[in-house]
Amino acid sequence: MSIHSRIIEPLASRVRLTNQEIEFRGVTTDSRKRVEQALFIPLVGERFNGHHYVTGAIEAGAVASLWQEDEPVPTNLPADFQLYFVADTLDTLQQLAKVYRKQVDPFIIAITGSNGKTTTKDMVYTVLGGKGYVHKTEGNLNNHIGMPLTLLAMPSDCQFAVIEMGMNHFGEIEKLSKIAEPNAAIVTNIGEAHIEFLGSRKGIAKAKMEIVEGLIKEHWVLVDGDEPLLDAYIMPEKKSVGFGDQVSEPITDLQATESGYSFCFAGYDGWSLPMLGKHNVKNVAYAIWVAQQLGIDNEQINSRLQSLKVSGMRLEQVSGPNGSLFVNDAYNANPTSMIAAIKTIEEMTHYRDRVLVLGDIYELGTNEKELHESIAEGINDSFKAVICVGDKARWIYDAIERKQLQSLKLYEVQSVEDAAHYLKPYLNKDTVVLLKASRRLELEQVLSAVNEGG
Ligand code: ATP
Ligand code: MG
Repeated sequence: MSIHSRIIEPLASRVRLTNQEIEFRGVTTDSRKRVEQALFIPLVGERFNGHHYVTGAIEAGAVASLWQEDEPVPTNLPADFQLYFVADTLDTLQQLAKVYRKQVDPFIIAITGSNGKTTTKDMVYTVLGGKGYVHKTEGNLNNHIGMPLTLLAMPSDCQFAVIEMGMNHFGEIEKLSKIAEPNAAIVTNIGEAHIEFLGSRKGIAKAKMEIVEGLIKEHWVLVDGDEPLLDAYIMPEKKSVGFGDQVSEPITDLQATESGYSFCFAGYDGWSLPMLGKHNVKNVAYAIWVAQQLGIDNEQINSRLQSLKVSGMRLEQVSGPNGSLFVNDAYNANPTSMIAAIKTIEEMTHYRDRVLVLGDIYELGTNEKELHESIAEGINDSFKAVICVGDKARWIYDAIERKQLQSLKLYEVQSVEDAAHYLKPYLNKDTVVLLKASRRLELEQVLSAVNEGG
């Protein structure tokens, strides 16, 4: 990337050294990260004030910094160190991202939704792979800071950018969309995440659909066609993708394969996805649709799909002791994704014994008890055992117990060590184990615990 000082100056109320022209090779908010010839953006947070770390940033390669006007300027700055004074460094970071986006002018695909953003982003990135330079959000940098930084990291010759947008409150996605000005938008699904701030699933749908507010030019909007709440948003450029009959872009003839699925979609009947999880079929369908619109042929898309790798801990298939298979989905959880993951395991009928290790789900608001209990609806006698981990998972345990399933073994534990203890006897070549909980539980440690025990 390269950002010229000329595009920053108009955003500043004054600059420290006038007539100093700089070509920045990076923008950073992290004073510890080595970035040569960088513009440092000191953010003021609850616990840290980036302005206090400017010396570190200089040591790490910064040649200039934005500077909030109400912050004292250190007297020991190098004489040639440039400062751009602004009212609010965060606000200026966002404005700068917007200006730079216009300068580079790539085709931007913005992705939001309760679940599947990162997965879909990686899929779109993969299918666009050969089509010029494609930039994407690193990891999960999808908020009001991460997303502008993602835009500012675009190479100046970048042709496509796949941008993840996350939120907790109303107005946040609109703001991100107006910064990124996407050409296409995808709403992967509506779940329950952050319902405590948004009131209801309808509220969540409304907050996600804010993504259309910043759309420019091509204006494609792809949404989850199996979500009735999204039908209410009527716009000519909207397409709906899903398994139901009512969708505009249906996925049909879905078949499970050894490593994933085959299916028909968008006029082609030979798609093959090397990944577990029916929801991933929909995620990949969004990516296929975008790639087709951008002129990539079906065989090319399909062959690129074969190189797809799941991001860690998202229905990741990992070998366990004694030839068992673990499906590690411990990255995070909400009720929708937990139910979907359970369904995926249920459909893995080539394993005789299916075991679920389910942990607490956080951030569910006042309905958290009922939402945990609802997980039990998807659990039946086809599972061998269920191990519930944590205080909140106790509600799942109680609800399953009330079903009085005959052959299912049920355990309730407080730690990953205890979960591993009860899990071990089940592990053999005929067993598949699901690990699923909110991030805070770090449920993947069950896997290391059973491995350590030999
Ligand atoms: P975050 O809010 O943490 O950034 P995300 O939206 O980026 O999450 P991913 O990281 O792609 O979501 O996926 C997280 C989990 O959500 C997956 O492990 C899977 O269980 C579930 N999931 C993915 N796609 C979908 C979908 N389309 N519908 C329902 N659940 C999904
Ligand atoms: Mg994500």
